[in-house]
Amino acid sequence: MVAISIENVWKYYGETVAVQDLNLECRDGEFVCVLGPSGCGKSSTMRMLAGLEHISAGQILFGDKRINELAPKDRDIAMVFENYALYPHKTVAENMANPLRMAGVDKATVTKKVLDAAKLLEIDHLLDRKPVELSGGQKQRVAIGRVIVRQPAVYLFDEPIAHLDAKLRARMRTELKHLQQHQGVTTVYVTHDQLEALSMADRIAVMHDGVLQQFGTPAEIYSNP
Ligand code: ADP
Ligand code: ADP
Repeated sequence: MVAISIENVWKYYGETVAVQDLNLECRDGEFVCVLGPSGCGKSSTMRMLAGLEHISAGQILFGDKRINELAPKDRDIAMVFENYALYPHKTVAENMANPLRMAGVDKATVTKKVLDAAKLLEIDHLLDRKPVELSGGQKQRVAIGRVIVRQPAVYLFDEPIAHLDAKLRARMRTELKHLQQHQGVTTVYVTHDQLEALSMADRIAVMHDGVLQQFGTPAEIYSNP
């Protein structure tokens, strides 16, 4: 597990300032939601956290290491984006098992972890199906399952449940929060949905036009909107 510090971070795309002097810290094991409307710089922030995007100025630390000094294999970050990509020719079980198998985990442990995660996400009856035989919501849960079996040090979620229907979203909010607390994994979760942020976050970072406007607990944000 690890704490994350975003220190005086800027992101430019040509003339566009997407993120402006952002300072944000996520404590070890904390669940931080980044909340804001479309275009406010949420995804740019996540891509920089994931090491997928160059940081124009400032720095991001994982623990005491700067992200650009960490080799990708040492980053121990799991990401779930809105547009999931599953292996179409593999079963649900194989899709979920794949990261663990790649890491050389023994078969019995893989089977147990896949089954545990599948039960939690209520997709254990779908383990033998192929992605084409699943609904969008089921596929999204498989994509989440594929990262939670790894139990990484950091989760980065970018609108992971935005495509699901309201009922499933409500259930997934509870499940993801429960899982994160259970595993104690430091989590940054991007959403434009205030209810999602209020119900899941330890602290909420409210962004607007690339600027952090508020950072506090749901109670602090809610009492001071
Ligand atoms: P959000 O995730 O909150 O919708 P983004 O981080 O995607 O916000 O975008 C922030 C700003 O940066 C927007 O004005 C967007 O148009 C711009 N932007 C994002 N990605 C790029 C890019 N690859 N090239 C140019 N501009 C971009
Ligand atoms: P293989 O031909 O390699 O046995 P499988 O589809 O049977 O392919 O399984 C791939 C991996 O997915 C297995 O190593 C196992 O860990 C996991 N797996 C398969 N089926 C299940 C299941 N019903 N419950 C839990 N894990 C499963």
